Amino acid sequence: MVVQFLNSQVQQIIIHAVRTYPQECCGLLLGHLSPDRSCKQVIKIWETVNAWNPEVGADLTTIIPQLGQGKRDRFWIDPQDLLAAQRDARDHQMNIVGIYHSHPDHPAVPSESDRLLAWSEYSYLILSVRSGIVSDYRCWALDHHQQFQPEEMRAQ
Ligand SMILES: [Zn+2]
Repeated sequence: MVVQFLNSQVQQIIIHAVRTYPQECCGLLLGHLSPDRSCKQVIKIWETVNAWNPEVGADLTTIIPQLGQGKRDRFWIDPQDLLAAQRDARDHQMNIVGIYHSHPDHPAVPSESDRLLAWSEYSYLILSVRSGIVSDYRCWALDHHQQFQPEEMRAQ
């Protein structure tokens, strides 16, 4: 799968990640999946608030044994935000094609909790923010064994 962005969209996500540092930022990628399922075209960046809180954490302890400390190493998209984005996408003949989030002072590589909470149809763009500067970003998707594999990301 190739995930196609506009440079301005990548820029918007980078600014969001820098603004949110040292907490994790998160948001949704709205767009189209090509009919042959070889390419995703991102049309709209949907910024969301990182809604992580201890209650969310308590709800997830059954699936994630080792939880992080808070918004520095965890993100959560409020289901209401997800619904609003889904509605907007549908109204404009789009889908949610992916999720982005940042890793403050950690590599742009999915964590085990990212993997456990991931949905197979989504692309996951992860940005590494080090000392307030985005140093790397990469796209990932689950394979058939529920393991993350790199996805090709293009920006123009
Ligand atoms: Zn993560």
